[in-house]
Amino acid sequence: MRIDIGPAIMETCRGDITKETVDAIVNAANETLLGGGGVDGAIHRAGGPAILEACRKLGGCATGDAKITTAGNMPAKYVIHTVGPVYHGGSRGEADQLASCYRRSLEVAADHGIKSIAFPAISCGVYGYPIPEAARIAVDTVHAFLTEHGGLDRARFVLFGEGTFTAFSKALQAKAQPRTS
Ligand code: ADP
Repeated sequence: MRIDIGPAIMETCRGDITKETVDAIVNAANETLLGGGGVDGAIHRAGGPAILEACRKLGGCATGDAKITTAGNMPAKYVIHTVGPVYHGGSRGEADQLASCYRRSLEVAADHGIKSIAFPAISCGVYGYPIPEAARIAVDTVHAFLTEHGGLDRARFVLFGEGTFTAFSKALQAKAQPRTS
């Protein structure tokens, strides 16, 4: 699924984010930035020790914030590490924190002149966010940012599983509805 936002493209695809040839891939990290499982483990394995070395100098990262490092041996130039919320039922500010992950990642990307960025489904793994709701927040936040800011040419969601791919594609499809007037 793919839509145009002015000169920029927003799209979903299935795959392994560590293989992406974009300028920056986003990592769904934890607050220590010292490595974890899921997509975080895959990124550190594929990128090699340079990423952990760079992360050690950052002093962690708050939930909803984002910090940038090298991508080591991966084809991307940078990894933007963001920390999604653990889902506790939805009444602890999780939606705002999840939106903040996408917004802060895009702000950090824009500050570094990044033109293309790939996101995983932040908080949709062990952090337990309900996938349709997480997909809607992700798509709405990235769509709003690309609508309001120039600079980025491409934002893609790289989804590992069928369930996240379907949900993110559906949320993106909802943004592509033709105008009725
Ligand atoms: P969180 O702790 O934020 O929930 P996880 O890493 O557990 O993060 O999961 C986030 C999402 O990343 C899940 O949908 C998971 O299937 C997906 N994922 C795991 N490995 C990869 C990968 N190599 N590329 C893209 N997505 C991945």
